[in-house]
Amino acid sequence: MSRRVRKPPSRIGISRQLVSAVAVLAVWLSSQILAQTLTLDDAKARYLVEVVRHVSWPDGVDLDQYRIAVVSSRRATRRAFERLGETSVAGKPLRLSYFSSAEIDPAAYAAVYLGEEFRSLHAQWNEQAPQTLIVVDGNVPRETQMVSMVEVGGQVEMRLNRENLISRGFIPSIALLEFAGTREDLSDELRLKQSRLQGLLEEVASKEQRLLELDQQLARNAESLREATTALQRDQRALAHTQQQLDRLGDDIATASVESERFQAQLSEQQREFAAKQQELAEQEAQVRQGEAQIAELEGDIADGKAVLQQQLEEIERQRSMLQTKNQTIDAQRESMWLITGVMLVLLTAAFFLMRLNALRTRANLELEQLNKQLYDLATTDSLSGLYNRRQFMALAGSTLELHQSLGDAMSMLMMDIDSFKQINDRYGHAAGDEVIKAVSAALNRDLRQADVLGRLGGEEYAMLLVGCNVQQAEQVANRLCTDVAGLTVTVAEQAIKTTISIGVAAVENEASAIEKALSRADKALYRAKASGRNQVAVGLADASTDGMATAASG
Ligand code: GH3
Ligand code: MG
Ligand code: MG
Repeated sequence: MSRRVRKPPSRIGISRQLVSAVAVLAVWLSSQILAQTLTLDDAKARYLVEVVRHVSWPDGVDLDQYRIAVVSSRRATRRAFERLGETSVAGKPLRLSYFSSAEIDPAAYAAVYLGEEFRSLHAQWNEQAPQTLIVVDGNVPRETQMVSMVEVGGQVEMRLNRENLISRGFIPSIALLEFAGTREDLSDELRLKQSRLQGLLEEVASKEQRLLELDQQLARNAESLREATTALQRDQRALAHTQQQLDRLGDDIATASVESERFQAQLSEQQREFAAKQQELAEQEAQVRQGEAQIAELEGDIADGKAVLQQQLEEIERQRSMLQTKNQTIDAQRESMWLITGVMLVLLTAAFFLMRLNALRTRANLELEQLNKQLYDLATTDSLSGLYNRRQFMALAGSTLELHQSLGDAMSMLMMDIDSFKQINDRYGHAAGDEVIKAVSAALNRDLRQADVLGRLGGEEYAMLLVGCNVQQAEQVANRLCTDVAGLTVTVAEQAIKTTISIGVAAVENEASAIEKALSRADKALYRAKASGRNQVAVGLADASTDGMATAASG
């Protein structure tokens, strides 16, 4: 703990302020005394120097000298400033320049003294040179005032607006602020500050007294601390000795506890063995008790079994006598059974022969039906292509015509013939030609609708009756069929055979022998398609004449 007490900072500040205030007061008093010999202008010049001395310029304004412009047209003002004889303030030279007009740059000076005749300029220069201290001779409005010298009752009063100065960054000393107030305020404030100072001095005295007491207390405490330290050192030595004894004791205890642990381990091992033996004994006892219970149970079971056996024996005896009675009855029945069996055998044999006869008849009927179907197929179908033959085509076309003509459906007839088929036979052989006929037949049959009728009329010629199709639609179908067949490739003995067909199209009209006539017209159209170069469709008109009939190339 520090024994020094720092002086309260407020005391230093107040002392300095007091000294400064006294100095300013001294200047003021001497100015008052000299007032008999010095003029009011002299007082103003001296006040200006005091203002410079007691004001700090804003931060950033670096003053190595005080350049001061005195702007006044009065010779008396200039003489008063010249009489100052002052050359420096706080070690910095004071440079006074005199102007009798306002044509200067106020910002070039640390301070400007404006004579009374120029005082109206102060507000403008405040704006123009914010870091220049403007001191005015005479009264100015408070809101623009920085520092002014006012003559009151034959004396000069210095006035300043602290807020304006501070807002521009100037810091006036407290002494200057106090001096620039009214004398009454000053004396009041002085009194107040003196009483505050008195209070502070008393506080310092009481604190010094307290410090003295604390010093004595500290000396006493230091003495008792020394004693306590000695006692503590003594105690520490005793403690170290005790600690050694304790360490030895600890070693002994550790040895003893190892022993005790070993002994306890042996003890618990023996206890475990004892418990195991007890357990074993208890299990054996339980087994003996269980055996006894089982024996008792078995004895009970044997007694029960004997009783049951007795009952069963009685039951067997009863059933044996019943069986004997039944045997006698069965012997009697057996004789009549033989008789019935003989009759049954005769009846079964007869039934067997009847069933066999019936089965034979059913099979013969089935075979007959199949034969009939084959006969029908042979009569109606072309065996090579599986399509209807000419007779069946004509029969089905007739019945279809009857049905759909009554419904008013349009119908068309196509006549189709494989192109240059003779060449295929000649080039690849008859069997290959057969394969081509099969492939073309399958292609024509592929997209056939339910109601349409397709037949192979002979050789490589086909006819197709299209139901619900007018000639234009039939022509479209025919073109598609041409394209389908031209796209076929029939492979026989590793030879790829390509082929085409030509088609004649005709409408089926509502007339006598309509199918035959339609076939005839379609056939004529087919010949025209052949004549026009094959692999194409030609349409025949209803009129028997063939003039103006159209052909169209497929694909
Ligand atoms: P076009 O383009 O003018 O019809 O010429 P084409 O050679 O097809 O006509 P043509 O009527 O002269 O020849 C038809 C040949 O078809 C004659 C016949 O030997 C042959 N042919 C007829 N039926 C069969 C058959 O079932 N199998 C085979 N492989 N050929 C047949
Ligand atoms: Mg042909
Ligand atoms: Mg032909």
